[in-house]
Amino acid sequence: HGKDCVKVAVRVRPFNKRERDAGSHCVVSMVSSSITIQDPRDSQTRRSFCFDYAYWSHSGFSRDRRGLYVPEEEGGRYADQDSVFQDLGEGILDNALQGYNATLLAYGQTGSGKSYSMVGYGPNKGLVPKLCDRLFEAIRENQDTRQCQVIDLLSRGSRTSGALRVREEQHRGFYVEGLRTVPCDSAHQVEQLMEQGTRTRTTAATHMNANSSRSHMLIVLQLKQIFSKESITKQSNINLVDLAGSERQRSSGSEADRLKEGTAINLSLTTLGNVISALADVAVGKKVVHIPYRDSVLTKLLQSALGGNSRTVMIATLSPADICFEESLSTLRYAERAKRIQNKAVVNESPTE
Ligand code: ADP
Ligand code: MG
Repeated sequence: HGKDCVKVAVRVRPFNKRERDAGSHCVVSMVSSSITIQDPRDSQTRRSFCFDYAYWSHSGFSRDRRGLYVPEEEGGRYADQDSVFQDLGEGILDNALQGYNATLLAYGQTGSGKSYSMVGYGPNKGLVPKLCDRLFEAIRENQDTRQCQVIDLLSRGSRTSGALRVREEQHRGFYVEGLRTVPCDSAHQVEQLMEQGTRTRTTAATHMNANSSRSHMLIVLQLKQIFSKESITKQSNINLVDLAGSERQRSSGSEADRLKEGTAINLSLTTLGNVISALADVAVGKKVVHIPYRDSVLTKLLQSALGGNSRTVMIATLSPADICFEESLSTLRYAERAKRIQNKAVVNESPTE
């Protein structure tokens, strides 16, 4: 079996109110799957990057009666939730149904559109709920030949920080001890659990005197397919990861607590960056002695998604505005390194016991 490169997509959102009020200029442009960002202070400096997909969701949209963002007219430029799902979601679902582990990561500064792309708001359903809808459709269609079970992991102890331990086992790799797994039989049920999870994320953040954009959210769907005729069981994990905001913590005026929390989160994103860099070096044939998975909880849990047994997609989200130039450029650089990572995904298949 061959190598699977991490697929990388970028998406640029519309101006928000703050940017409009500031009279922001758009510094991002896209041509097919490449993106160019212009330094607002220096007309000579621009950088271009080429990814697997580039989504223009900045302009060219209207909102229909239900509040759904749709392309302005037939052939409009705005990339809506459906087109992102078609490119990224369908593949993840196909991979999972074939028995591969699949991972989707959203990376970008706070307010750039990670949650919009992953989960969505109101009628603008994001990748996760669309994926769940399609997953249960597929389950219904195959009910005569397969028996399927989807389990969502929901942590009970997440209100109290540090309550859950990450352990390691030879075959399983790293895992969180004591997570709650809930069997689900509809997309609606998964959606409710996600809402519950999002609420817990917000409450936990408030308890810790922090902001939920400074935490990571991992949604793990475990899919087990039993092919009775062939006596084969396929098991795959779908990891859906809404990462903490990637912006650098401004130290001014932060309370000690917030700073500590910010530092820990920054450390896990930095470690993720270091792991990505090391894996990018491996991919181009450089000799790398150590990949620092163990340096953060996040990278331990994403070990198989990065350089391991998973087909992985990253969506990097950005603001179009001149005032966010530095953060957007750093997001694009991060995403560019991720693109070089090669995984070795295998079908997780065994005889049915
Ligand atoms: P993040 O999760 O990265 O902090 P959000 O996903 O919450 O950011 O997005 C911030 C705001 O921008 C939200 O109000 C969201 O509705 C809007 N937004 C983000 N991406 C898009 C998009 N592609 N199209 C329309 N609105 C978007
Ligand atoms: Mg968010």
